[in-house]
Amino acid sequence: MADVYVVGHKAPDTDSVCSAIAYAKFKREVEGVNAEAARADEINPETEYVLNYFKVNVPPLLKDAKGKKLILVDHNEFAQAVNGVENAEILEVLDHHKIDFKYPEPILFHAEPVGSTATLVAKKYFEKGIKVPYEVAGILLAAILSDTVVFKSATCTPVDREVALKLAEMVKVDPERFGIEIKKAKASLRGKTASEILMADFKDYEFKGVKVGVGQVEVFDLQEALERKKEILEEMERKRSEGKYGLILMMLTDIIKEGTELLAVGERIDVVEKAFGKRVKDGSVYLEGVMSRKKEVIPPLEKAFG
Ligand code: MG
Ligand code: MG
Ligand code: MG
Repeated sequence: MADVYVVGHKAPDTDSVCSAIAYAKFKREVEGVNAEAARADEINPETEYVLNYFKVNVPPLLKDAKGKKLILVDHNEFAQAVNGVENAEILEVLDHHKIDFKYPEPILFHAEPVGSTATLVAKKYFEKGIKVPYEVAGILLAAILSDTVVFKSATCTPVDREVALKLAEMVKVDPERFGIEIKKAKASLRGKTASEILMADFKDYEFKGVKVGVGQVEVFDLQEALERKKEILEEMERKRSEGKYGLILMMLTDIIKEGTELLAVGERIDVVEKAFGKRVKDGSVYLEGVMSRKKEVIPPLEKAFG
C-alpha cells in the first residue's frame, strides 16, 4: 500500500491522469516517497487511447480519500476533487489552474500559468537532469497536446511547446500528427448518449453562491455536433433541476474551426450574455476563437457574476 496518493480531478482528462502517473513515479524514484497514482473517476476514451499506446496501466480508482495522504495534481478546488477530500491530508498541490484553495497547514503549493500540469512534471525531470523514461515522456507529451488542443488553445505557452517538442524527440513522434490522433479518439459524439457527452468533461464551480456547471467536448465537425443540440440541452435541463444549478453551460468546441458553440440553460442566462456580450438564441451562442474553458469562459463568467 502506498503512503501517498497522487490524484487528479473528477471527470479526469488526459492531463489529470497522465500527470498523476508521471508525478507519482517521480516522487517514488527521485524523491523516495512511497507514492502511487490514483484516479478520481473513470478515464475517458482519449486517455484510454494514450495509456494503451504507451502500454501504461490505468491507475486504480480512489473511491474515498478519507484518512489518506494526497498530492493533488491538475486541480486545487475541493469542488473538483476526489470524494472524501475534506477528510484527507493534503501534502502538496501541483497545478495550472486559478487558485481557490484554503488549507489549515502550510503545504507545498506549486502552480504556474502554463498549458498543462504535464509541462510542470516534465520540467521537474529536466531540472534534476534525469532522463525521462520513454513511456513517461510519451504520456506527458500526450497530456500537453491534449490540454493545449495541439498547441491551439489560448492557454498554450512557449514553455509548453518547448517541453512538448523535447518529449516528442524522446519518443520519436511528430507532435502535431500525434496530437490529432489523440484528439480523434475522443472527438466523435457517435454512439454516445447526451448524458455521456455532457458529463465526459464536466466541472462544478460556485460564483457568488450560485452553483454553475460547465462541460466541454471537442469535435472535428461542429455542424454534425449541432445535430445533437436539442438532446444535449434537454439533458442539461435535467441535470440543472436535479442538481440545483443556477446555470449549466456546455462548450461544443470545434478544434478545426477554432471556436465554441456555448449551450446554456438555467435562470442566469443574463450572466452569460453579459460575460460574452452576445445574445443566447435557441439555447446557445457561438464564440469565435474560444477554445479554453479556464481561460476564455470561466474568467468572463466569474466577472459577470460580479
Ligand atoms: Mg484537467
Ligand atoms: Mg490540465
Ligand atoms: Mg483539461
